[in-house]
Amino acid sequence: MFDSLSDRLGGVFDKLRGRGALKEQDVRDAMREVRIALLEADVALPVVRRFVDQVTEKAIGQSVLRSVTPGQQVVKIVNDAIVEMLGGDTTPELDLNAAPPVVIMMVGLQGSGKTTSTAKIAKLLKEKQGKKAMMASLDVNRPAAQEQLKVLGEQVGVATLPIIPGQQPTEIATRAMQAAKLQAIDVLLLDTAGRLHVDQQLMDEMKAVAEISRPQETLLVVDSLTGQDAVNVAQSFAGEVELTGVVLTRMDGDARGGAALSMRAVTGKPIKFAGTGEKMDAIEVFHPSRVANRILG
Ligand code: GDP
Repeated sequence: MFDSLSDRLGGVFDKLRGRGALKEQDVRDAMREVRIALLEADVALPVVRRFVDQVTEKAIGQSVLRSVTPGQQVVKIVNDAIVEMLGGDTTPELDLNAAPPVVIMMVGLQGSGKTTSTAKIAKLLKEKQGKKAMMASLDVNRPAAQEQLKVLGEQVGVATLPIIPGQQPTEIATRAMQAAKLQAIDVLLLDTAGRLHVDQQLMDEMKAVAEISRPQETLLVVDSLTGQDAVNVAQSFAGEVELTGVVLTRMDGDARGGAALSMRAVTGKPIKFAGTGEKMDAIEVFHPSRVANRILG
């Protein structure tokens, strides 16, 4: 399928083996390969440009370490730059430092994996942090969305707000806040409605729910397989609500991870979790270095 970027860079630099410093023209040749690899990995074009410019500047003139070939050295520079762009090697944890119930609002388009991720995170909070969690589905658009969350709640052993047919999202949010207070819930996860496309009604609804629930975390769920679309979605959401992080789903698919780079660049927010499958424990804290490896191949 793909030639790995590491191999390609090796090719570019073969002729250079043993020379002292990385020369401008060689670095530019190498960056052409980096650019192609990033585009193949589905990184958004403006992000690729910015990245390549930054790395080029950093690489030119660097002296080549004796223990590595120039190709390996450039791979390392690119690798480090990807990790840095993804926010360094430590992912910030969910910020739950607020008076309970601490609200986590999940936003994203329909089909992004929002409901699944809500239940996965609730399970993590319960099992890893001993939190008393509750989930509420505000998704009145997708048939059976509320029922789906209820079923997942039963699977992971986390309570869900009882469904009252016909209620609007803001009414459900109000009821969820009341129930969470009454039941001394530590963390309330709100699975907001998704639509097939970003539209103003969706954004207004999300803002009204945020007004009511004052979320401590607002996590945007995006499907890593949707490439450029994911970037557009992120841009729209980031312009409307104060996101605190991103959940990147379907990282178990063949996506080369480029969406991660784009997400971080577009939203400026950390990717906090990666969804890695359909099962309820298929979620991990996001690791920038793994994505860098995946992009570099
Ligand atoms: P929502 O409309 O955003 O709430 O999407 P759902 O949570 O219902 O997810 C849609 C589909 O994607 C379901 O079949 C999920 O099992 C699946 N899904 C969600 N996250 C992942 C993931 O990380 N990997 C894989 N392979 N499938 C996922």
